[in-house]
Amino acid sequence: MSENIKKIRVRFAPSPTGYLHIGGLRTALYNYLFARKNKGVFALRIEDTDQKRFVEGAVENLIKALSQTGLSWNEGVYEKSQISNLKSKTIAESKTYPGIIEAGEFGPYVQSERLELYKKYAEQLVADGKAYYCFCEPQRLEEMRERQQKEKRSPMYDRYCLNNVSPEQINEKLKENCSATIRLKVPKDEIIEFDDLVRGKISFNTNTIDDQVLFKSDGYPTYHLANVVDDHLMEITQVIRGEEWLPSTPKHILLYRAFGWQEPQFAHIPLLLNADKSKLSKRQGDVAVEDYIKKGYLKDAIVNFVVMLGWNPGEGSTQEIFSMEELIEKFELTKVHKAGAVFDIKKLDWINGQYIKKLSDEELLQNALPFFEQKEFFAKAAADKKTGEYLKKVLTIEKERLAKFADVGDENQFFFQDISYDKEMLRWKTNTDDEIVQSLQKSQTTLNAITENNWSLVEIEKNLLIAAGDKRGDLLWPLRMALTGAQKSPSPFECAWVLGKIEAIKRIENAIEMWQ
Ligand code: GLU
Repeated sequence: MSENIKKIRVRFAPSPTGYLHIGGLRTALYNYLFARKNKGVFALRIEDTDQKRFVEGAVENLIKALSQTGLSWNEGVYEKSQISNLKSKTIAESKTYPGIIEAGEFGPYVQSERLELYKKYAEQLVADGKAYYCFCEPQRLEEMRERQQKEKRSPMYDRYCLNNVSPEQINEKLKENCSATIRLKVPKDEIIEFDDLVRGKISFNTNTIDDQVLFKSDGYPTYHLANVVDDHLMEITQVIRGEEWLPSTPKHILLYRAFGWQEPQFAHIPLLLNADKSKLSKRQGDVAVEDYIKKGYLKDAIVNFVVMLGWNPGEGSTQEIFSMEELIEKFELTKVHKAGAVFDIKKLDWINGQYIKKLSDEELLQNALPFFEQKEFFAKAAADKKTGEYLKKVLTIEKERLAKFADVGDENQFFFQDISYDKEMLRWKTNTDDEIVQSLQKSQTTLNAITENNWSLVEIEKNLLIAAGDKRGDLLWPLRMALTGAQKSPSPFECAWVLGKIEAIKRIENAIEMWQ
C-alpha cells in the first residue's frame, strides 16, 4: 500500500518584486512546515516571466530574506551553506534543469531560464486543438474591451482569431513572424469544481473565464502556463498559496485537463488585512520582511508572528509562542482559517518582547549593539558608557519593556548623557525644600555605605527600602528624579545599579546643589 502514497512535494513560487512580502513569508512558511511535517520536499521557484516587472537584485533579496528567517528549501541549486556567497552566476546554473526534476537537486528553479520548455507545451496545446493563435493587435483588444465595458459585460476575448483565421492564414502569419499570442480555448458551460484544503468545495462556471493568453508575443509564457507546467513537471502534490490566486485556480485546472495531467490539491490561505480590514498595503505600514529585520525584530519572533496570521493549533489552545520544532509538529492545513487575518503590529511587538526576554546577556548585546551605534545619544556618550559591560546592564533593565531593538535606549537616554531638569521636579507631594534636601542626603549616605563590590540590584534595593521605612515616596521620588531627570523611568534601584556608585552619587550631589 505504501507505494501508492505519493511523496509530498510543495513549493514557494514568488515573483521577484524586489523584497519578500510578509504575506510571501507566510506562504513560504506554511509550505515549509507542511513539507517538514510530512517529510516531503519544499522547493523554491522564481516566477519571473513578467519582463515588465523585472527588478535588479530582486532574486538575491528574496533569497537573503528567506535565509534570514531560517526557511531552507531542500530542492534547488543552492545548498543552505552556499546562500551567503550567492552570485547571479550561480542562478544561471539552474539552466541545466531539463524539465523533469529529480528529487534531491537544488533550486531555485528560475522560469525565465526555462522558456523553451513552456513554448513547447503551448504549441502542443495548439496542435491538440486546446489552444489557438491570436494575432489581434493591442488596439483592437482595447477597443473590444471598451465596448464590452460600455455594455456592462465583463471583458472577454471575442474569439475573433479562433473563428476567422484559417489554418493556412495562421501558417502564413507565423512564417512572416507576425506578432502572435497563444490563447487557451476555454470550454463553455462547464462547472469546474475542486476541494480546497482550507476553503472546502469551490466551483466556477467556465462561462466567466476568459480565453487566457498562455504564451505572449515576447516569447515568454504567462504566469498561468508556466505555473501549471512547472507544478506538473516538479510533481507538486499540494499548491499552497495566497487567496488572491483563487480566481486563477479554475484556469489552472482547465490547463491540467487540457494537458491530460493530474491536478494537485489546492490550499488557499487567507488574505492579510490592515486593522481597518483593507488588504495589507505599504501605505499603512511596512510589508517587507527586511523592514522588520532592520527594525530589530528577531527572526524567530517574526516567524512566530507570521505563522499565527491565519493559523493556530486549535482545540482551545492559548499557546502563542512556538519553537520551529513545535510548529512542525503542530502545523496542519485543516487548521488554517478561512477569514482574512489582521496584521496587528502590537502583537508582533509583544511576541518580539517575549523572545527578547529569553535572550542571554551576550545575545542581547550582540543584537542591540548595531542599533546603539546608530543613535545620536550613544555617539555622544562618554567611553565608559559604551562598554559591553555597561550596555549589558542597561539591557538587563530595558529588556523587560523593549519591543524591538530599534528602540533601544530611546526611553532611557539618561543612562548615556548628563541630565538637566527643573529642580521643582525633585519635590514629592507637599515636601518642603528642607525635606527634599534631607531625603537626597539620606539616599546619598545609604548608597555611599554600599561598597563597590556589593553594588548589586538586590543590595541597593534592600538598603534603600530600609532607609525609606514607611515613607517610600519621600525617599524614592527625589532619588529617581536626581538619577534620571525623567518623569518616566525604571525604578531608582535599577537606575542606580546601572549608573554605578560613582555616577549615582554624583547625580545626587548635583541635585542637592540645586537647592543650595
Ligand atoms: N508567482 C505567484 C506569486 O508571486 C505564485 C502563485 C502560486 O503560488 O501559484 O505569488
